[in-house]
Amino acid sequence: MKRRTFIKQTALAGTSAILLSKTSIAFSNISQSNTLTRPIAISTWDFKIPVNETAIQTLRDGGSVLDAVEKAINLVEADPSITSVGRGGYPDRDGHLTLDACLMDEKGNAGSVVFLENIMHPISVARAVMERTPHVVLAGDGALQFAVEQGFKKEDLLTENSKKAYRDWLQESKYIPPIGEKNHDTIGLLVMNKDGDIAGGCSTSGMAWKIHGRVGDSPLIGAGLYVDNEVGAATATGVGETVIKIAGSFLVVEFMRNGKSPQEACRLAIERLIHKNPKYKNDNGFLAGFIALNKAGEVGACSYGKGLQYSLYTDGKNEVIDADYSKK
Ligand code: ASP
Repeated sequence: MKRRTFIKQTALAGTSAILLSKTSIAFSNISQSNTLTRPIAISTWDFKIPVNETAIQTLRDGGSVLDAVEKAINLVEADPSITSVGRGGYPDRDGHLTLDACLMDEKGNAGSVVFLENIMHPISVARAVMERTPHVVLAGDGALQFAVEQGFKKEDLLTENSKKAYRDWLQESKYIPPIGEKNHDTIGLLVMNKDGDIAGGCSTSGMAWKIHGRVGDSPLIGAGLYVDNEVGAATATGVGETVIKIAGSFLVVEFMRNGKSPQEACRLAIERLIHKNPKYKNDNGFLAGFIALNKAGEVGACSYGKGLQYSLYTDGKNEVIDADYSKK
């Protein structure tokens, strides 16, 4: 190796060591680090409907971890009062409601749909992509065509509420998609069954008023979701642009692979996100965060921007918990 290359590499290794071990960022110190009783379901936010309970019930009924993920996410997608997922979601700046979703099973199989319109259950289409095609991702009109071929119903998913919100936004918006405001959320769900197998999925209508064609982190394997049944799983919510740039969920899983607890792994990923996204500030409602579950049945969560909550089902009960957050 040439001396100069060697010096460069050593310097780089030094930098990453600093980033991993020392941090100038203060966290809120909310953390969970004990091994939980299986089955476990952990999901983003509190959608005020029984998301985790549906997942656990599906397992009890003999379903697989993937069935549990799909059924529980279907519940959120079908709820017209949730304005950031499936039916009733807020449209893009041209008035189109476009949906993103993906899932991964315990064998590492993956399926995804991006920029899908007029199908209420994108997570189920993602599953069909995974199970019935040789592909991982289908997009836009092709994804819609595939969904219809597979028997999914094509329908208008905008509600009176989402149409009105769009009309209101058009009046004040000046057609500039706002980033950072609280106009988005994703259902991300990780499920572990009694045997310790893990699957995960996420589904969203993305950012309200986004530019037509915008795809967020949620349907991108490694960004919005990653499952490695030997290690654990992670999923993201919040401003997808910041998560994509650090391959966020994959990064969380890789930190766990290297021995970090889910809590430490989520924090390290948030530090990376902050470091790599200097133009986003911890104000104006900006939020990006991760939830994670490892093979030992420990969970963690952390966000940039205060306010992330997650729902955790273990030991026969569900709880809504405030996530750890970066104070800077
Ligand atoms: N991650 C989603 C996106 O960027 C939005 C969210 O979860 O808040 O599309």
